[in-house]
Amino acid sequence: MRNTFHTQTLFELSQPGRRAAVLPSCDVPEAPLEKLLPTSSLADAPPPLPELAEGDVVRHFTNLSQLNMSVDTHFYPLGSCTMKYNPKRNERLASLPGIVDVHPLQPDHSVQGLLALLYDMQAMLAEIAGLPAVSLQPAAGAQGEMTALMVAAAYFRERGEQRTKVLAPDSAHGTNPASAAVAGFDAITVKSNADGFVDLDDLRAKLDGETAVFMITNPTTLGMFEPNIAQIAEMVHAAGALLYLDGANMNAILGITRPGDFGADMMHFNPHKTFSGPHGGGGPGAGPIAVTNKLGPYLPSPVVVKDADGKYRLDNDRPQSIGRVRSFFGQVGVLVRAYCYIRTYGPAGLRKVSEHAVLNANYLLSLLKDTFPVPQGDRCMHEFVASASKLKAERGISAMDIAKRLLDYGYHAPTVYFPLTVKEALMIEPTETESKETLDAFATVLKQIVAESAEQLHGAPHTTVMCRADEVQAARQPMLVAPQLTH
Ligand SMILES: *Cc1c(COP(=O)(O)O)cnc(C)c1O
Repeated sequence: MRNTFHTQTLFELSQPGRRAAVLPSCDVPEAPLEKLLPTSSLADAPPPLPELAEGDVVRHFTNLSQLNMSVDTHFYPLGSCTMKYNPKRNERLASLPGIVDVHPLQPDHSVQGLLALLYDMQAMLAEIAGLPAVSLQPAAGAQGEMTALMVAAAYFRERGEQRTKVLAPDSAHGTNPASAAVAGFDAITVKSNADGFVDLDDLRAKLDGETAVFMITNPTTLGMFEPNIAQIAEMVHAAGALLYLDGANMNAILGITRPGDFGADMMHFNPHKTFSGPHGGGGPGAGPIAVTNKLGPYLPSPVVVKDADGKYRLDNDRPQSIGRVRSFFGQVGVLVRAYCYIRTYGPAGLRKVSEHAVLNANYLLSLLKDTFPVPQGDRCMHEFVASASKLKAERGISAMDIAKRLLDYGYHAPTVYFPLTVKEALMIEPTETESKETLDAFATVLKQIVAESAEQLHGAPHTTVMCRADEVQAARQPMLVAPQLTH
């Protein structure tokens, strides 16, 4: 049963004078605000906040939360974003008083336990990356990219080298060229070849003395391991440039290979993808970076260090550092969850995570490839990119139609239309924690959907509160006041 209550805003539900709590009458002398605060700090009128009873507020947010899909409620094969199971134990540990009640400005001697945890986290990420110097500070993968590029800029500046370009393949995530631009570089696109890998001739033509960094995602956004990675690293280094590894796809290679070993100078981790951090409406997040020793001095301050007497402290005395990229230490709560995940599995367990992620993806690929051709490869890493372009050509059914119809069947949609190099892309990532039954059921539903009529699919989803929205208009002119939603 659906009612419009769900869709009204708190402001529309507001009734003057309604309250969640009734305060006892004041038993100390009252003073007007003007006496307590400078008048320049006072608003002309109180803010028009909604007035509601507690039950109204709880129902409002609970109902809203149920309009969403989540990994706790549904299979969520969102390729490139890795919506993997978030162990509830990590949530419990991250909310222990010794972690949540710490004030970010507490003196180091009073938070030795937390500093020890963060110090170990730096060391574990260094080990997984094969890159010795780590900053836990960036607040997302994208900010990690930007931070690493600022580190690269500081490195070249100090060497007196004028390098203004950052290269990235056409299959790259949009954050790569965006980070390059924000860090002050010119973003240059390198072509992919027919197999979806870096076109080495195009890379060779674009690499020059002005190239600072080549950013590569490996495994690639097509879910394949770049076979020429060693040669690419050699070419980049021969040009005096640095190789950046976008670590969003570390799920496929944990404990199997390390970016530092295949030539990367810098990388970021996405703890919310690889180490089971919850994804939450864009934040709070973390995007630690790992770099080679020669780049270490430029990392943001502070880093956690351990002194000879065994005490931990935040080291701010780092003259070559690019400075802070985030307030206080970073997103410690997310880092604690990632720490728990890594410590729970240990080295052999992490390798198994990747092996199972790759096995699950290949199993699903095998079930689906006759329905949805996979242009690049019969085998994949932790995810694969199928294409609905044949369905589109023959029956007018798009990747979006399929994605939307999946919602009616109780599945979150896969990533669609990314990477841009595959037409009508459906990027599917099952993750290591899904069972064979879940994958079988998902494949069965996808085949069922393909058997439906194009008209049926164009209107999907049919059972959600909002049906097919005009995506461009929804993004540009979101309806913030609830209309009567009707089908
Ligand atoms: C998710 C992703 C990013 C950005 O990471 P955030 O943590 O979401 O900022 C960058 N590159 C690739 C390939 C990604 O999948």
